[in-house]
Amino acid sequence: MSVSEFYDLIIIGGGPGGLTAGIYAMRAALKTVLIEMGAPGGQVNNSDSVENWPGDEHIAGAELAMKFSLHAQSYGLEVRSDEVLELEPGLEYHTVKLADGSELHSHSVILATGGHPRKLEIPGEDELYGKGVSYCAVCDGFFFRDKTVVVVGGGDTAAEEALYLAKLAQKVYLVHRRDALRAGALLQQRVKADCKIEILWNSVVTSINADDEGVSSVNLQDTQTGDQRQLDTNGVFIFIGFNPNNKLVPAGTRMNADGYVVTDEKCETTSPGIYVIGDLREKYARQIVLSAADGCTSALAAAHYVETRKASETCELPEELQNLAS
Ligand code: NAP
Repeated sequence: MSVSEFYDLIIIGGGPGGLTAGIYAMRAALKTVLIEMGAPGGQVNNSDSVENWPGDEHIAGAELAMKFSLHAQSYGLEVRSDEVLELEPGLEYHTVKLADGSELHSHSVILATGGHPRKLEIPGEDELYGKGVSYCAVCDGFFFRDKTVVVVGGGDTAAEEALYLAKLAQKVYLVHRRDALRAGALLQQRVKADCKIEILWNSVVTSINADDEGVSSVNLQDTQTGDQRQLDTNGVFIFIGFNPNNKLVPAGTRMNADGYVVTDEKCETTSPGIYVIGDLREKYARQIVLSAADGCTSALAAAHYVETRKASETCELPEELQNLAS
């Protein structure tokens, strides 16, 4: 077996949950590494303004992400930039395989890999991605200054992003499949009060069309009458929810029908010592503050688990790992 390093805790994912877990793990003196393949902060980086993180009435998502990261690193948290290919659970220790070929071992693992934007799965969506189709208003909104855009979805994300785009674009059509938004009351009020935003109720986009310059129009269908029409637009922003990034979840772990991992109140999965937190975990609501709370819970639980394992006579590591793990 090729041994690189042994940790008390490996955290996979550097969003608010993973970084909070890192802070609590370092404070609990666990030998910890956090592995992240993108920018620290995760999806928060895509938020123009976060207004429900306690203590900050308004803060840019990228700034909040940076604060989380700096806070975790102030405790000396080791952060590795790499892609995790596999998490192999074991009775004595767990193994994490990285794209650079190395293998890390640990007593405990926290999976904090979040989710990715759901797709409409309609003609034109994949082909026109980056040519007018986007899943991130903060990243791409600038290109639609004084232009017309369609925002698809009726949840908090669609409402927030529509408001952000209305500051740049000339016109924003918010296309929602029902006659009521799912977004919170305050966001709904703001969307309805914004004169640049027009809500197209009971409507779905059935295809995205292009000319030589990129997106030029969408085909719309009325969900009640079945009527179809074409709407000219320069861009299409799709915010219809997230799918969990559950590729690394070990086989046999309990998940719900939507692919979210079911844990106990300590965020522990059915594999002892493996915790799942944040947007990957089945829960009532998906909020930054809840991901951070999961990070705290799981790190405290992992600290207790590691302490118990180290004290346990049944924790018999192979000889080559014993020195590394001490
Ligand atoms: P969401 O709450 O799941 O909303 C998805 C929206 O897309 C719904 O309105 C849904 O319609 C619509 N939709 C889903 N599939 C569709 C399809 N195939 N075609 C057309 N429309 C479709 O997702 P989200 O807005 O990304 O939010 C995810 C979580 O993050 C939520 O818990 C949300 O509260 C949270 N969040 C919070 C904040 C905040 O507090 N500031 C900001 C962003 C996100 P229906 O309504 O008909 O189901």
